[in-house]
Amino acid sequence: MLKINNLTKNYGQKIAVNDISLEVLPGQITAFIGHNGAGKTTTLKAIAGIIDFDKGEIFVNGYNVRTEGLKAKSVIGYLPDNPDMYDALKGIDYLNFIADVFKVDKQIREQRIKQYGERLKIYGDLGAPINTYSHGMKQKLAILSLLVHKPKLYLFDEPFVGLDPVTSHEFKEIMKEECQNGSAIFYSTHVLEVAEKLCNSVVIIKDGKIVGQGTMEEITKDKSLENVFLELEKN
Ligand code: ATP
Repeated sequence: MLKINNLTKNYGQKIAVNDISLEVLPGQITAFIGHNGAGKTTTLKAIAGIIDFDKGEIFVNGYNVRTEGLKAKSVIGYLPDNPDMYDALKGIDYLNFIADVFKVDKQIREQRIKQYGERLKIYGDLGAPINTYSHGMKQKLAILSLLVHKPKLYLFDEPFVGLDPVTSHEFKEIMKEECQNGSAIFYSTHVLEVAEKLCNSVVIIKDGKIVGQGTMEEITKDKSLENVFLELEKN
């Protein structure tokens, strides 16, 4: 579902992402972990087509994100670390706008908005303008806006930040369901305990380079993910 070959991204003299290659298969939830400034957000933005890159190739569902950007974007759902939404719109108007962009049928969008809106406990607030929402409510709305168009590849940048424990739990269940239905999830996180339980694979990035990747079993063996990570950070 996602294939990255030798991706490099520089910001001026700074090499933010340095020749990384990885793959995320349908059905996989892959955690992308690394220290602050390791290159996670940069990688996610490059996959989502938000920033250009210097070297390498990225394929989403077989589409080259550079040369077939629109096709790639049509199957991607990207949740940034700080979602920017049209604040003056009501929640429901924002969802309808996103559903229009992704050409989601009226009946299907209504059913998804109700189903996932209720599960994420935001359905009752959709009639209010976004500028009256709390941080967590905005996060829920941004997640719901992805579930409205059901992407094949979900890209989440620290998705649990701001969510209350009940919503976090429900969101994890939804993530698992989406992957059981053939989507793939690639998400950055600093919460290693959750990643270890939730994900079947993991990619570890340090100073722009991948220093570990594989299934969760391969990477952790008899150690916790936290211990594996701390050891890699020491070297
Ligand atoms: P965090 O866990 O703190 O969110 P991250 O792994 O997502 O970090 P990135 O945001 O990808 O890290 O940043 C990687 C490197 O690129 C950092 O050194 C950062 O300072 C640099 N960087 C990121 N964005 C820019 C930019 N717009 N201009 C210049 N340098 C940038």
